[in-house]
Amino acid sequence: MERKRFGNTDLKVSKIAMGGIPIMRLSKEDAVKVIRDVINMGINFIDTANGYGDSEEKIGEAIKIFKRNNLVLSSKSAARDKKAILSHIDLSLKRLGTDYIDIYQLHCVSNKEDFEKVMSPKGAYEGLEDAVSNGKIRYYAFSSHNPKIAEKMMGTERFQVTQIPLNFIDTEPEEKLIPLAHKLNIGFIAMKPMGGGMLEDADLAFRYLAQFEEIVPDPGIEKTEEMEEIINIVKNPRPFTEKEKQKIKRIKKEFGNSWCHRCGYCQPCPEGIPITTVLITQSMIKRVDYDSVIGFQEKAIEKAGECVECRECVEKCPYDLDIPALLKENIEIWKKFKKEHENL
Ligand code: SF4
Ligand code: SF4
Repeated sequence: MERKRFGNTDLKVSKIAMGGIPIMRLSKEDAVKVIRDVINMGINFIDTANGYGDSEEKIGEAIKIFKRNNLVLSSKSAARDKKAILSHIDLSLKRLGTDYIDIYQLHCVSNKEDFEKVMSPKGAYEGLEDAVSNGKIRYYAFSSHNPKIAEKMMGTERFQVTQIPLNFIDTEPEEKLIPLAHKLNIGFIAMKPMGGGMLEDADLAFRYLAQFEEIVPDPGIEKTEEMEEIINIVKNPRPFTEKEKQKIKRIKKEFGNSWCHRCGYCQPCPEGIPITTVLITQSMIKRVDYDSVIGFQEKAIEKAGECVECRECVEKCPYDLDIPALLKENIEIWKKFKKEHENL
């Protein structure tokens, strides 16, 4: 598969990366097979995170048979201070079985407090500086779901790579963030190219993304055939027909009242409800293994039951979502999921 230079780094990456979330659901043997198949198809860019269960370990096992310098590895840590991120970087290195990681991201810097913590003295950014200076990581990066915070992070001009949600429903980056990344020559990983598992039409999803020359989508996949399909779409880009444009409009409309863009503008909730976490329950169920999904969601769902319907969050949501109603819907989705699992 064709390679391209990524932002102002010296990395040459495939036009598609592989995201490391869904392999959490696979046995080690199956995960290793899928990762090796994907690399053999020409994908050299793999993105994971310290917080994705055993994803790093599975990737580490899979890449043993490949030359390290032919691969671009990217991971992330949600640590906010220097000491914690340094220990996470060491752990990532150990799990991935490598002595350097190409891209290391401050994971999900999505509000003002996160921004201040990571960029302050003794914050996580200083940890990245240490790790760069001793060769453990090569490039500074961050991921964010909040376009305003992402803009602020990019504006520091201290990052070479960013990762932000982009798909034909999460289109906000089109306006400012993609042009800004282009202007600053920052590598742009398109997070959730298929809406975190919610968009089912890969053809529409990847043809939408193909219009942005400089971005690299990182679909999370769990079957070799899924990546084969995506590669074929990317290799044969073609503009949308009128009928397809209408189909996108229809999908957008269907999801319009329930699609959480994970921007976090509705937070904080005075009752302490982690709204975004609750509203992505369906996506988590689809992509993450049972034990991890319990770890990620259970407490949030319990907390959601404490919503007093003050509607402060609704006032702040730019997409006019009826958040209290959606919390209830997600509680029901969760109950159904748990019941089905117990009956397995
Ligand atoms: S409506 Fe519920 S979720 Fe929204 S701010 Fe009020 S208590 Fe929090
Ligand atoms: S509910 Fe609205 S404001 Fe809150 S994260 Fe989702 S889209 Fe953003």
